[in-house]
Amino acid sequence: MTGSLDVQSSPEGFRLGNEILAFRFVATLGERRGDPVERIAAPERLRAWLTTNGLGGADMPVSDALLRDAHQMREAIHRAGTAVASGGVPDPADEELLNRWTARHRARLVLTGGQAQWHLPDTDPARAALAIVALDAVATLGGHRDGVIKRCEQRTCGGLFVDTSRGGRRRWCSMATCGNKVKKANLKAARDGTEAGSYGPAT
Ligand SMILES: [Zn+2]
Repeated sequence: MTGSLDVQSSPEGFRLGNEILAFRFVATLGERRGDPVERIAAPERLRAWLTTNGLGGADMPVSDALLRDAHQMREAIHRAGTAVASGGVPDPADEELLNRWTARHRARLVLTGGQAQWHLPDTDPARAALAIVALDAVATLGGHRDGVIKRCEQRTCGGLFVDTSRGGRRRWCSMATCGNKVKKANLKAARDGTEAGSYGPAT
């Protein structure tokens, strides 16, 4: 899949620090276990997310109906991924929804100058772009990747990732965001503990 994965967050405020396209899409609803942050609240935002991830151009038509369908698919990926992460299987209704999306897959993967790029059809390209996200979700959830699907351990996140680390010790969807957040919180707790703990050694 294309897209610059070294970028952790885009100027539009999207979180891109997750290697898996489908799980980056899940992350467009952030803070799922806290105060949810909707990062694609308008059709234009959906288009911006798609283009940021190498799917389609700035003139791609989008609609409110497509946005509703996109949200519905995103939540199916999240529920299915959460089920897999806890050792279960996805709800058949979610599987069916994702399968309906992959049945609509109409994009072509083209090799140009050594780079793989998705070419979208002229008719309803944004829907075809979302079908690519669904395809990635099905491949990932169905075990077509190395690694283990996990749920981010940052308290309020609720995001998903694939742990490919040796020893399987990865805990966060993204080191740059959730990993840093946890580290900062731990440092603060240690510092506050030290300041308050005048009765013990300041270790
Ligand atoms: Zn996270």
